[in-house]
Amino acid sequence: MKESLKKEVRERAKNCCEYCLVQAKYSGESFSIEHIIPLIKGGLSVLFNLAFSCQRCNNHKYTATTAVDPATGSLVTLYNPRTDIWAEHFEWREYFTEIIGISPIGRATVNRLQLNRDGLVNLRRVLVDAGLHPPF
Ligand SMILES: [Zn+2]
Repeated sequence: MKESLKKEVRERAKNCCEYCLVQAKYSGESFSIEHIIPLIKGGLSVLFNLAFSCQRCNNHKYTATTAVDPATGSLVTLYNPRTDIWAEHFEWREYFTEIIGISPIGRATVNRLQLNRDGLVNLRRVLVDAGLHPPF
């Protein structure tokens, strides 16, 4: 993948993971350019199929494009940062330290990608206190 394409993806995401919204400049994790539809499922390395993702979210998503909504047991598509609007599927709770799914897609994505991992919640708490979170 060309460096210019990676840079465009990172800048479009405002240097934040497009799933858990952790800011790369404050995260201890590495970040990657994630294929929303994985290469092995025919996804292409084009802007519309790429997302900026922290390594943990990327690892939890792996090659999944669907997951179970824990509230209903239904299989639904995972949140797609290119076609879905974050605020229609997620809300901040607990003073901006936890992400809650407010739709089937949101709930399935929180569960599958584990968007409230201990390290993330701790980091959000520190950043909220410092006035640096949420990022948008
Ligand atoms: Zn993330």
